[in-house]
Amino acid sequence: MKKVAIFGSTGSIGDSTLNVIRENPNLFKAVTLVAGRNVQKLIKQIEEFKPKNIYIIAKEDAEKISSIYKDINVYYGDEGMEEISNLVDFDISVSALVGIAGLKPTYNMIKNGKTVALANKEVLVAGGELIIKTAKENNATLLTVDSEHSAIMQCLRGEETNPIDKILLTASGGPFFDKEITDKITVEDALNHPTWNMGAKVTIDSSTMMNKGFEIIEAKWLFDVDPSQIEVVVHRKSIVHSMVQYKDGTIMASLGPTAMQIPIAYALNYPTRLENQINKLNLFDIRDLTFEKPDLNKFKCLRLAYEAIQKGHSFQVILNAANEVLVDAFLNRKIKYTDIPNGIEKVMNMYEKRELNSVEDILAFDEEVKAKTREMIA
Ligand code: NDP
Repeated sequence: MKKVAIFGSTGSIGDSTLNVIRENPNLFKAVTLVAGRNVQKLIKQIEEFKPKNIYIIAKEDAEKISSIYKDINVYYGDEGMEEISNLVDFDISVSALVGIAGLKPTYNMIKNGKTVALANKEVLVAGGELIIKTAKENNATLLTVDSEHSAIMQCLRGEETNPIDKILLTASGGPFFDKEITDKITVEDALNHPTWNMGAKVTIDSSTMMNKGFEIIEAKWLFDVDPSQIEVVVHRKSIVHSMVQYKDGTIMASLGPTAMQIPIAYALNYPTRLENQINKLNLFDIRDLTFEKPDLNKFKCLRLAYEAIQKGHSFQVILNAANEVLVDAFLNRKIKYTDIPNGIEKVMNMYEKRELNSVEDILAFDEEVKAKTREMIA
């Protein structure tokens, strides 16, 4: 029985992870649940999964939970996050907080030599080099549950002796691929993703294609490839989750339904596949698969991501921090949709290259950029 820690249990990835655990009670036990503010949902999860440790941001929520569940270890606040992410009594952790909030907890688990299944791509965007180096130094195992990267991981398995030509990273293109991008786009329009059902921030990132920019950086670190070897391919149906092209011209592809439970189950039970209860693909229903190039003039966020990759690490931290603030402001209806890419570009232009050598450096710089972005919005 594998003990599972879920950082972000009340989110979309958290839901899918708990579904896998629910369907496989003989294989997995949720021992640690980490939530943000959704105390009602966390309480339901505690009732069902009976974890040993839980985290919630607010002290009053933590006290409420402690008063009901006397035998659970309850953590809260910054100190609590530090403590719960340093517990070692689990076999695999799903890192699915959203944004930079996931960096320090993921770093702690990696530093403790644990196995982490990473959903939170912002961790590698802001701290890829450090996370990979720390994982190597401490014999930690980093798996991925991002569907594209899980697909790539599967296309690379057993091919260790074959150098790759390139990674073909698929993108759905989001809701605006065939539409004009204007400042009239509403939050509802942008949240209406054509193929995936995800948390709000990643859904907006998908609509701007910033998500794909982040995924290039994620792939660079996970698979040790140069970004020039990663090509974004717009594939509207999200059936092919990504591909690897080898030097002999062969392309290995991983296809599957748009269900996050599948890559999550693959990571939780790695390397053995689990039977899934979800509908399987029917190729006769799908009939055709199409592949197109993204338009970098239209999807400015993707262009900015390429620019940040070229300019180096500190610009990737800026990209991530400015994006986090601007997406949040858009979701709270404080700025227009087009202010997201325009704002990121402005913030990126405010900075020179910086050396960031530790988690503390990265987090301090992230805060600085966020403050500047908030100032600009105000
Ligand atoms: P959600 O917004 O649905 O969930 C985020 C989770 O993190 C929630 O449980 C939230 O708690 C918790 N959380 C956020 N901030 C904090 C914090 N400061 N402290 C503690 N808990 C916090 O996001 P998703 O599940 O969609 O995505 C999670 C990550 O996975 C993102 O990085 C995303 O890019 C990535 N990802 C998501 C995919 C998907 O299909 N959803 C696919 C591939 C990658 P609460 O709700 O209680 O406030």
